[in-house]
Parts: sequence; C-alpha cells; structure tokens
Amino acid sequence: MSWIDKILPSGVRSDADGKSSSSVPEGLWRKCVKCEAVLFLPDVERNEDVCPKCDHHMRIGARKRLARFLDESGSEEILADIEPVDRLKFKDKKRYRDRLSSAQKNTGEKDALIAMRGTLYSLPLIALAFEFEFHGGSMGYAVGEKFTRAAHIALEERIPLICFSASGGARMQEALISLMQMAKTSAVIERMKLQGVPYISVMTDPIYGGVSASLALLGDINIAEPDARAGFAGPNIIEQTIRQKLPKGFQRSEFLLEHGAIDMIVHRTEMRPTVGRLLSKLTQFPLTLVEEPVPEDAQEGDAVPEATNTPEAPETPEASETPETPESVASGDE
Ligand SMILES: [Zn+2]
Repeated sequence: MSWIDKILPSGVRSDADGKSSSSVPEGLWRKCVKCEAVLFLPDVERNEDVCPKCDHHMRIGARKRLARFLDESGSEEILADIEPVDRLKFKDKKRYRDRLSSAQKNTGEKDALIAMRGTLYSLPLIALAFEFEFHGGSMGYAVGEKFTRAAHIALEERIPLICFSASGGARMQEALISLMQMAKTSAVIERMKLQGVPYISVMTDPIYGGVSASLALLGDINIAEPDARAGFAGPNIIEQTIRQKLPKGFQRSEFLLEHGAIDMIVHRTEMRPTVGRLLSKLTQFPLTLVEEPVPEDAQEGDAVPEATNTPEAPETPEASETPETPESVASGDE
C-alpha cells in the first residue's frame, strides 16, 4: 500500500472491483484559490464548497446550489425549454452562435439561468440560480425571459421567488435585446412588490454590470455571501476613470453592507435556515427548521443572525478574472 493509500479513507482507497488504486484518484483534492491550501474534496463538499481553512466561498454551479438550497424531495426544473436566440447574427472574433454551442457543450445547459420549483422547509417557492460557467453568467434574452416567467409563476401562485446570481452583466452579443432584459426583470419585480409576493436576491461572487443594476439588487431583501464582489463596473475601470485609489475591500460584500447597499451577509452553510426564517416572517408560513439548530433569538422578534465571520479579505489573485465591464463578458470568458 502506497503512502497515499494509507492516509485515504477506506471508501476511496480501492476501485469498485477491489483492485488497489496505485495513484491518487482523480479529482480527490482541490486547491483553495484564496489560501492555496490543498483540501480533501469530501471535506470541501461537507462544508458546502467553503474552504475549511480560510472560509473562502468557492464558486459553485447552479444545479448544485439549488439542490443544496431546496428540500431534498419534491423539486423539479421549470421553464427548461427557453433557449437563447441569435437574432442579430452577431459576430466578433467568433460567431455568437458558435460561442453559444460551445458554452452549451461545456456546461450541458441551454443558457445561464436554471429555474426550479421546490420547497424550503416545506414552504413552496421558485428558486433560480445563475450558471457562471455559461458565458460568464451573462444575461441575454433567455436569462431575462426565464427570470420573468418564473416571477409570473410566483405571482400567480403567490409563492416567494429566490434568485442566486453570479454574472458578469448583460450579454453584449445580444446588444439592445440583452439591455431590455434589465427593464423586463425590473418591471416584474416591481409587480411582485406591489402585490406583496416576496423576492429575495442572493448575490454570489461575482455580480457585475446589468445584472447587478437590475434583478440582483432589487430584492425585498438583498443578501450576499461573504467576500463576494458586486458592483456595476469593476474596480480597475473605476480607478482609471476617476484617477483615485479605491478604499480597501471596495465592492466586497462587507463594504457594501457597511455602506447600505445590501441588507445582510449570510454564510453559505447558514443560507437555508436564514432564508427560511426570513420567508416565514414575510409569508406567515409556520416554518419548522428541523435540519439545522436554530438560535433562540432567531425564532422571536426580527433579529436574523448575520454570519459575518469572514475576515476582511485581501484582494485575491483571481480578482483579475472579474469582467471589468458588462461588455468584456463577451470575449473574456472563452
Ligand atoms: Zn482557503
């Protein structure tokens, strides 16, 4: 038995047919992009893709996020037939049609937003999540249309809507059509407000451009994960434009909370119970939080605990990956 086999749990030490594995099974380790610790994948999974060493919230896919957020049984995908359309026959370095097909092939998704109908502690709701790996989570016709139709279902059935966003902004290959989605999604959110149907927005790293300027910051309650970056233009563009150095932590969740741009920072492992408690108050739905222990003060009164245990983060090396403008999404993600 090799040294690596000795330190591995028995379940991953051998192949299914009983043959001893002579090398590290593929994908068993993961490096944290922030603290660079090499992490054992099952530990990371258990911690909902939050680094156990430095608490960095790693990027996760839309389906994984929704599967973790919703109750285990009874959820189903909705509006899966909405597909992107290349109405302008757009071409830059590549044809938009080709960009779409390669994003579809790489992610297995039709576009960058996934919608599910499900329950949270038995409370029926519609949950949406952006798939950042699909064209930088950019918003074109398909994303805007899916969000809007999901909101209409929530309105008709008077059930809450939750959206986990991660996006570089509007999709420039759809030009005006993508910008129209900002107006379209904002309008339906306003209808929800007028009719008293709750909409909660959860911002996950990163949120920029037209998505931050529309649906991501228009929630009745705007939540962000710790240390997530959110803004319209990226910090480099702003610094070049105003020719001033920006303060430390600019556009991070903690900075946004301090300056009143968002309402709460919630740790990923606390997302389910926290959103559950908020929705219980907003809908008068009697919620029983059976899975996670609830702090006593969270059941009475309006205090919802904020998980702000992430230290002020230095600028991470991955900051350069952030699309600086909504437009850069178009050519920067492939
Ligand atoms: Zn880490």
